[in-house]
Amino acid sequence: MPSAVMWFRRDLRLGDLPALGLAAGAADAVVPLFVLDPRLYEPAGPNRRHFLACTLTQLDRQLAGNLVVRRGNPAEVVPAVAAEAGARTVAVTADFGPYGARRDRAVAAALGRQGAVLRAAGSPYLVEPGTLRSAGGGRFAVFTAYLRALERAGWAAPVPAPPARFTRLRCDGGPDDLLGPHAQPGEHGLPAWWKDLPLGLAGHLPPAGELAAHAALGRFVEHNLGTYAQRRDNPGADATSRLSAYLHFGSLHPRTVLEVVGTGSGADRLRTELAWRDFYADVLWHHPRSAREPLQAFGRHLRWDSGAAARRRFEAWATGTTGYELVDAAMRQLLQEGWVHNRARMVAASFLVKDLHLDWRLGARWFMWHLVDGDLASNQHGWQWVAGTGTDAAPFHRVFNPELQRERFDADRTYVRRYARAAAVDPAGGAGPEAADPGAPRRHAAVIDHASERREALARLAEARQSAAMGAELGGPRGVGRPGPGHREKS
Ligand SMILES: Cc1cc2nc3c(=O)[nH]c(=O)nc-3n(C[C@H](O)[C@H](O)[C@H](O)COP(=O)(O)OP(=O)(O)OC[C@H]3O[C@@H](n4cnc5c(N)ncnc54)[C@H](O)[C@@H]3O)c2cc1C
Repeated sequence: MPSAVMWFRRDLRLGDLPALGLAAGAADAVVPLFVLDPRLYEPAGPNRRHFLACTLTQLDRQLAGNLVVRRGNPAEVVPAVAAEAGARTVAVTADFGPYGARRDRAVAAALGRQGAVLRAAGSPYLVEPGTLRSAGGGRFAVFTAYLRALERAGWAAPVPAPPARFTRLRCDGGPDDLLGPHAQPGEHGLPAWWKDLPLGLAGHLPPAGELAAHAALGRFVEHNLGTYAQRRDNPGADATSRLSAYLHFGSLHPRTVLEVVGTGSGADRLRTELAWRDFYADVLWHHPRSAREPLQAFGRHLRWDSGAAARRRFEAWATGTTGYELVDAAMRQLLQEGWVHNRARMVAASFLVKDLHLDWRLGARWFMWHLVDGDLASNQHGWQWVAGTGTDAAPFHRVFNPELQRERFDADRTYVRRYARAAAVDPAGGAGPEAADPGAPRRHAAVIDHASERREALARLAEARQSAAMGAELGGPRGVGRPGPGHREKS
């Protein structure tokens, strides 16, 4: 009997999944497949690996145990599975990331050689990256213009789950068996000097899977949607949706979220936030190298600190011991939960770049290792926005004052108190509740003086802009991805 393969990637759900309709319409039976691709999961830290394993376990339950999980290079594994299943069609949700798009071209070519096709339907976004154009036909450089275009264009309605009959082939093992041991520093591009820092599993990860995602959405609608627009920026209020990990793994599609939240000020605000997710995917699609290189050319001339003292400052930042309460609470929340409130992410990221003068890529790597919602487009461009090298319309001059931010967004100290007790850090296992300091909230001595580091940051900005302008006059490198000047040692 002919089968089609439904190759799941960042769409780990059964509801509102156009690709599943495509697979079900192409054959009598569907072989659901997930390929554990070392290129993608090895650089992920234990939190995302664990969450992925739990998500796959839940998906397998929904599929009555039919999910086929294989490990290896998709360009080999997918054609092999299609051949075993006798499938002429492999259905996917389109992937717009730099690696994913390349991988899919290789898989499509390999399938083509055996007379099968890779067919894509839908995307993880409201609108496919690269689709929207400005009035002049160009790409978008700032968010507000993108948002207006997105609102004008609109997006497809959710699709009902198709009737599908699932069938199973041999599996390499359960999701957990495939995940393997967590990487050590030095592997997968982690700096070797991170070896004494906490790299382990967070103590409190959210429940995984499509049902858990819908439950989280239901709780948000019931308790927080009404006040979301007013309270979403207060980290202590816990008033945001906490849907980011589900959206990243595709347990939920953003259009489903918008359908459920309906209309009103909270829904309007949530639509704007989800548009940021689309916007960053669009920017990455147009500028694939912006995942690693500054989007703005001057960013390659920014001078970052390195050396022993810089490392010590990074360690203080990473372990939440800088002496700046909001920064420290953010970094401890990351270690405990693999998730951080958006305002706290911005303040902590700004502190690394503009107070400690450390390369944004170092902080982005730390976040990507720990975040359960770690997402290449949102994370790298969240960092570039904060660093001023990305899409912020008021770039590097914006230097968050961590004390004023705390006073403004956590006036009653609810948030900083919540994480103040977890200063004790266990290098092996993150800072779970067992690592919590039972004593009174502890405040560390400040590692830097914000006022003077702000002046230093602005001086470096002026210097970088001048170097970039001189380089341009001399016909020097322009655009994303060209090498910048070497870093200066400062100890
Ligand atoms: C330095 C930095 C790094 C970040 N890294 C990531 C990341 O790796 N993955 C990630 O999903 N988000 C990232 N963000 C964006 C944002 O912080 C999180 O999406 C948000 O905190 C998730 O919590 P929530 O689901 O409760 O958000 P809500 O406020 O409930 O927002 C709903 C959804 O909108 C999207 N969203 C909201 N704000 C943003 C934003 N600024 N950029 C992109 N999408 C947004 C998310 O999908 C989020 O789940 C980063 C932000 C910064 C400043």
